[in-house]
Amino acid sequence: MTIANMMQQKCFVAGAWVNADNGQTIAVNNPANGEQIGTVPNCGADETEKAIAAAAEAFKSWSQTDTSYRVDLLRKLHAALLENQEELAQLLTLEQGKPLAESRGEIAIGAAYILWFAEEIRRAKGEIVPAPANDRKLLVTHHPVGVVGAITPWNFPSSMLARKLGPALAAGCTVVAKPATATPYSALAWAVLCEQVGFPPGVVNILTGSSRDIGGAIMSSPHVRKVTFTGSTEVGKTLIRQSAETVKKVSMELGGNAPFIVFDDADIDAAIEGAMISKYRNMGQTCVCTNRFYVQSGIHNEFVSRLTQATADLCVGDGMQAGVEQGPLIDISAVQKVEQMIADATAKGGQVVQGGERHALGGTFFQPTVITNAKANMQFATDEIFGPLSAVFQFEDEAEVIAAANATEFGLAAYAYTRDVGRVFRLSDALEYGLIGINSGLITTVEVPFGGLKESGLGKEGGSQGLSDYLETKYTAIAGI
Ligand code: NAP
Repeated sequence: MTIANMMQQKCFVAGAWVNADNGQTIAVNNPANGEQIGTVPNCGADETEKAIAAAAEAFKSWSQTDTSYRVDLLRKLHAALLENQEELAQLLTLEQGKPLAESRGEIAIGAAYILWFAEEIRRAKGEIVPAPANDRKLLVTHHPVGVVGAITPWNFPSSMLARKLGPALAAGCTVVAKPATATPYSALAWAVLCEQVGFPPGVVNILTGSSRDIGGAIMSSPHVRKVTFTGSTEVGKTLIRQSAETVKKVSMELGGNAPFIVFDDADIDAAIEGAMISKYRNMGQTCVCTNRFYVQSGIHNEFVSRLTQATADLCVGDGMQAGVEQGPLIDISAVQKVEQMIADATAKGGQVVQGGERHALGGTFFQPTVITNAKANMQFATDEIFGPLSAVFQFEDEAEVIAAANATEFGLAAYAYTRDVGRVFRLSDALEYGLIGINSGLITTVEVPFGGLKESGLGKEGGSQGLSDYLETKYTAIAGI
């Protein structure tokens, strides 16, 4: 399929490609040059209610289909994703800006999630529980939760939807999804492929437009039994509040503030490699990106000098060009946020040792930056940076750094580099994070539960846990046997 076929500029509702009822559209721009790529419908509550009605109708039959039928469709979807990997990756870079190699990786992991859940549903076993009396059998069974509302962010516009569509469709749920307005085409491309491989009408519905109106209609509908959201903690809290009215199940993948701890005994080559990937992937715009580097005093100067050199060597440019490692930030407010954090840090004694300014390429390109002498009173100690800025704190001992690492309301990802086995286990216990990488800066994989503690979220995506979030558990007592 060509990119033009993949790049749908309409919404997908009840198996049809539709415009907004009032015909209004929203422009979508390429962040690398600010040029308009196309438009998408500006839908609102009415269109969302139609999509929910279609999903509720489709649920009646989809939830009753044979598991083997759903598995077969998911396997076809997995194959279609890989067949179209290059076109999907180019579309992703066009609307989001990340380097093409990263986009190819995002399509591959999205496909891997689909395959994982196609396999995992075959192991979603119930139980026959030993009964206290012999004339009874006690059954515990699992059932699809119902219509699912899915709301996704712009930083991983394809794979974040994969982590929701995969388990929902495998479980027998139907879906009404709303992608981020900045990056709608990667999500609409999922609908193109779902239609192509033969998912029945109404099973997958994807709407673009007003987040408040579409989100409001999803949250207030009694037909939507579960909402799965990936995005900021602020919006996540609003959705949790709204979910109370109809007592929906919720899964929340929210913001992070990852510490990256380098002890004196670390393998410095490995630590630099992990630092670069965990900090600068997607230009620093991932929820699991390193936000705070904590480096022990004995290795601090060497680490800073090597991190600074590696940061200076990063190739910045249009993500479509070969060799580019850093694309543009998503929009100008993301640039302003990084600038504000640099100004705050330097006013409080932080030293910019690399970068620190907008890039000569203009637009939303920013120089990959390193700041040393970071302190706990600086804004990036508590707030998510979401940009290519490395903040380096110095520490003396293990207890001090564990306390500093945990001194945040977030609890998504943490990284540590050490070769002391005892310390590895102490860190695994003490760090209040849902994902912990020891001697690795890239740990996401489909086989494990991904999700945060504290204000970083509720529920897990991936692993067997990622499927159970889409299943209800029932108990049936059969007496008089
Ligand atoms: P965001 O502003 O919270 O937006 C996320 C999604 O929510 C978008 O589709 C957005 O639509 C929609 N939205 C905004 N306001 C809404 C409302 N009142 N009701 C319903 N929907 C609403 O987050 P973002 O800036 O796109 O993404 C960055 C954030 O996501 C970061 O905090 C990052 O850490 C987090 N994230 C977390 C994970 C994880 O797995 N934990 C993964 C990736 C990203 P519009 O685009 O139309 O506004």
